[in-house]
Amino acid sequence: MTSLPLFDNDSHYVDYRTMQLPSRRRPARSLSALSLACAGAVALAGCSGTADADAAGAGDDGLTIVAAFYPLAWLSEQVAGDLADVISLTPDGAEPHEYELTPRDVAATAEADAVVFLPTLQPAVDAAVEQQAADRAFDAGEAADLSLTYEAHDHEHSDGEHAEEEHAEEHADEPVTDPHFWHDPMRMADVGDALAEHLATVDEANAERYTANAADLRAQLAELDGEFRDGLADCAARELVTSHSAFGYLADAYDLEQFGISGLAPDEEPSTDALTEATEFVREHGVRTIYFETLVSPAVADTVARETGAQTRQLDPIEGLTDQSQGTDYLEVMRANLADLRTGQQCS
Ligand SMILES: [Zn+2]
Repeated sequence: MTSLPLFDNDSHYVDYRTMQLPSRRRPARSLSALSLACAGAVALAGCSGTADADAAGAGDDGLTIVAAFYPLAWLSEQVAGDLADVISLTPDGAEPHEYELTPRDVAATAEADAVVFLPTLQPAVDAAVEQQAADRAFDAGEAADLSLTYEAHDHEHSDGEHAEEEHAEEHADEPVTDPHFWHDPMRMADVGDALAEHLATVDEANAERYTANAADLRAQLAELDGEFRDGLADCAARELVTSHSAFGYLADAYDLEQFGISGLAPDEEPSTDALTEATEFVREHGVRTIYFETLVSPAVADTVARETGAQTRQLDPIEGLTDQSQGTDYLEVMRANLADLRTGQQCS
């Protein structure tokens, strides 16, 4: 795992696996995060004082928020400000769709004052929330108004040799809710307001501060939304061909048409049918740019590009940051994506 400039000492974002604990963290709750880390690494220097430190920190009222993956962790940080420590379950650089929780993740979920998650994106997190934190969970999807559904492209099956694959695709053909709301900045703002309301019920004394933080966040996101609206208003290409279908809400907000080679979750090896359909779509619409992403192999996009003569370009689904990301937080990577989209979609 890599260390990110994001998690510097000015941040309250705690990745307890790497024990990069910010210096200004609140004592009580983050020490309990430290004790969690120590439970799995008793030989580490610095863990021996945990029990005493826990006792010393008792009575501190700072919250611990467990967020399922990066965009929710960033959003939680913005809304909670210095009133909480935010722990991301999905580690830096891990692909959240497939992420399996460790026992420590489950323990952190059980201990948190609030758990911010997005149902259906990460089945393992859904199960942990249901078992450990049903009374403290904040459902980001409910606040985001997940109005988009995803339906797999039509597949024609000419032979019966791939019965298993056909069976899986039959299931994929049923429309399912698209969870990737964070590519629409105004949906992020709505979730920020709802999270502020939720935190105000957990920590009533600071209700006004959560509300004010969410209002600041909304202003920043509205500015970002305006940049996308202007930047993507006049583009030669409206078709957005991506390696997985992570950009539906972006396409919906800014009048683009998404064609994901893989479905709602990244697939390293999409079916031959899926590749053929993507190739046909690219040819039919004269698509010049196919977007690959940061956390999964570019092979899928490369395959279609090679077949069609299109170029490939990076577009970050912002499902997790790495040191390869084109920015150190959500806003920076969104703006980098906008610049890539303006080039790739030939916008003026
Ligand atoms: Zn995704």
